[in-house]
Amino acid sequence: MDTLDAFARRKLAALEAAGLRRALAPTARLDGVHVLRGGQKLISFSCNDYLGLAHDPRVLAAAHGALDEHGAGAGASRLVTGDHPLLSALERRLAAFKGAEAACVFGSGYLTNAGVIATLTGANDLVLLDELVHSSLLSGGKLSSARVLTFRHNDAAHLRELLSAHRGGATRCLVATDGVFSMDGDLAPVGDLLAACRDHDAWLMVDDAHGVGVVNGGRGVAHGHAVPLRMGTLSKALGSYGGYVCASAPVIDYLKTRARTFVYSTALPPASAAAALAALEIVEREPERVAQPLRKARLFTGLMGMDEAQSSIVPVIVGEARRAVELSRALEKRGYLVGAIRPPTVPLGASRLRVTFSAAHDDADVAGLAQAMREALAP
Ligand SMILES: *Cc1c(COP(=O)(O)O)cnc(C)c1O
Repeated sequence: MDTLDAFARRKLAALEAAGLRRALAPTARLDGVHVLRGGQKLISFSCNDYLGLAHDPRVLAAAHGALDEHGAGAGASRLVTGDHPLLSALERRLAAFKGAEAACVFGSGYLTNAGVIATLTGANDLVLLDELVHSSLLSGGKLSSARVLTFRHNDAAHLRELLSAHRGGATRCLVATDGVFSMDGDLAPVGDLLAACRDHDAWLMVDDAHGVGVVNGGRGVAHGHAVPLRMGTLSKALGSYGGYVCASAPVIDYLKTRARTFVYSTALPPASAAAALAALEIVEREPERVAQPLRKARLFTGLMGMDEAQSSIVPVIVGEARRAVELSRALEKRGYLVGAIRPPTVPLGASRLRVTFSAAHDDADVAGLAQAMREALAP
């Protein structure tokens, strides 16, 4: 008989044996770049706070003000009593920023993706996902009763094949992709995907979690394309917390009426909304800051002799999970925090170091990391 504890121990032992057990490491962020872990101060290349806004004094002042004025929590779902005016202000601002008619803010990016896909598709519908999309888009597919298929990474021709073969049998069809792929840093071919969707009467959703604040002057990968569903998060370059989707007014109204992760989940805390509003203002006003993460990433790929970075995320693929963990530890000894990414986050045999760059890094930090990385990788 398998008791609950025995089940968990057996699972953990198997993961341990495969080098796939994960452990939380208490880590305090000191500013946009430095963290404290195990008593050691490290330069972090593993945060998604690409513009250093999580510690920006203007963002903090906005959050403090909202906290003092409106309290720590929203108190309820937005449809009950939690619809703070700061949230509608944030939605108007996001819609304007994205050039969309309307926006809907959710409790997180994960809740946004899970809610949007499961609300817009159901039985008899088809959901097509790039094989490397973020887990939250897959969760949306699983929560929906639609048929879910994946197309080869960034392969619009394969998407067309699948649409030709399966679109006819479905009532509605939603295609979803990351804009910037979170573990690879490459960009989706949005124009080609959109053309395939147009030809086959499908709706395209682009998750720009890592594109906003970094790519296309900070407006994300989908910017400049007529993508009907543009999703993003407040928790990465915007330095706050929460998720959103931009779309036409009827689509947003429908989501606000029916998306379960919106209706049955407490609203975003007012301080998070205020912080995101202040961060958006900075993104719009400081193009020089917005240009930095990509510049730093390209400095690194140049120094490493790698293909030029396309976003603030650069993967250094090493293969085996254990090797990725060893390299991460070796870099930590040299004063750098770089995350080891293993299956199931990435495919088997494609474990990697995931290096992320921020406007807050000094060029000297980037050069130091490249040097340490080369030493660690040397046989
Ligand atoms: C981080 C991330 C999310 C989830 O956003 P959260 O706000 O952290 O829940 C969704 N999609 C992608 C591509 C991400 O990288």
